[in-house]
Amino acid sequence: MPNLEVKCSRDMESYFLENDGELLRKLHALLKDHKSLDPVTEEPKNTVLRNRVATTLTPWTFCIVGDEEGPSKRVSVNYALGDKPDRKGPLGDRLRKDLGLDLEDVIVNHLSGKYQMEEGREYTMVSETREVNRHHYNDKPRKKAAARPKNVEPNSNPDKPAFEMPPGAINTHCHVNSNGMTPFPWSDDRKYDPAFAPWKKLEELDTFLGFSGEVIVAATCHGTDNSYMLNALRRANGRAFGVAFVDKNISDEELAGLDAAGVRGVRYSYVKRLTNPPPPEEMVAMAKNLKRLTDSGKLKNDWHIDLYCEAADLKDLESHIKAIPIAVVFDHMAVPAVANGVDDPEFQRFLQLFRDKRSCYAKLTCPERLTGSSKPEDWMKVLPFALALAKEFPDHVITGTDWPHPNMKDGQMPNDGTLLNRWIWEVAGKNGDTLKRILVENPRHLFNFPDSAMAK
Ligand SMILES: [Zn+2]
Repeated sequence: MPNLEVKCSRDMESYFLENDGELLRKLHALLKDHKSLDPVTEEPKNTVLRNRVATTLTPWTFCIVGDEEGPSKRVSVNYALGDKPDRKGPLGDRLRKDLGLDLEDVIVNHLSGKYQMEEGREYTMVSETREVNRHHYNDKPRKKAAARPKNVEPNSNPDKPAFEMPPGAINTHCHVNSNGMTPFPWSDDRKYDPAFAPWKKLEELDTFLGFSGEVIVAATCHGTDNSYMLNALRRANGRAFGVAFVDKNISDEELAGLDAAGVRGVRYSYVKRLTNPPPPEEMVAMAKNLKRLTDSGKLKNDWHIDLYCEAADLKDLESHIKAIPIAVVFDHMAVPAVANGVDDPEFQRFLQLFRDKRSCYAKLTCPERLTGSSKPEDWMKVLPFALALAKEFPDHVITGTDWPHPNMKDGQMPNDGTLLNRWIWEVAGKNGDTLKRILVENPRHLFNFPDSAMAK
């Protein structure tokens, strides 16, 4: 481990060019090519800052690599990405916030490699301002989060619908995910890193496909932090409603706030590979609370429970579901075991539940997820399940795309246009009236989308 001297700022440029020109080139390339979207406005972001950063980075970047003597043999890597210290604040923080770009990772990886730093030793990183005001900060070693699988990007070349989409169609199951950066970080408990899926992209895609409204369902990767979804609802300006994950101790006032922001449901996931499921009693208590708040006028709209579970979970959940006094909407037809066919007792139990509790709804979605395949031929194995539901409960079925298709692997990622042409159109029996019922009338009624001239 070399002991490197701290250079004064006047010498930084030559110091760096001499010692770490490669790192600088990497940083410059990153900044030059970086095309971030601002997570708040979802617009391409702040070129002025990017240019300024690229030109001022060199003289204001330096690093100190030291090896403190002592029993702990602590290694410190102090790097600084300086704007001039009296300007708006540490540049590293601003880059992270403004451009969604984390240079720390790049720098740490580079320095770790270059100086053969070891895993398990302590690293401290301080930005220039923090270095200057070091006594104000108690910089902790960076928390090393376990690596999570990174989701595949959704298909960016959707086919056009080959049939006429009815005006007023609602995509009742889709998601938005931030890029994980400030101010919309992902949950620490998440089980995957999602693909960046901003409202802007969803709106563009859905408009192309012929949808005119969305139900944005909270994805598990954001935990109970609904801020990114709420940001999307604000931007959607009445076009979309939301379904949230909430903490069981959420206050009436917070629920009223979500109601005013366009949230219309609370999601419960019993899929163990994605979440740690709460006791079903919590779901029932929440539903009763929502009913009480709607009855008393504290919530201005009807809410529903969005339930993500698999066919095998129904046996344990059934009695609880029946105790829910508001609508229950099942994601992906409660994930039937496709290979077992529609006569499978677990799917029959699902149908029976719809007969016993009339306020159940099924999302006829995700043939790609249920088959693990992006091929429409494979989706036909799921069709009998959707048709059985659509035939017996024609007013209780809705559908959607599930964009951006969380956790689909290579070879499973569907084309959203193909989903319309080879799934939704098939589910409707290639009948325009049935299609209108599933895409327009049922969802608009269930979620109380405002009646638009287009919907009728
Ligand atoms: Zn989904």
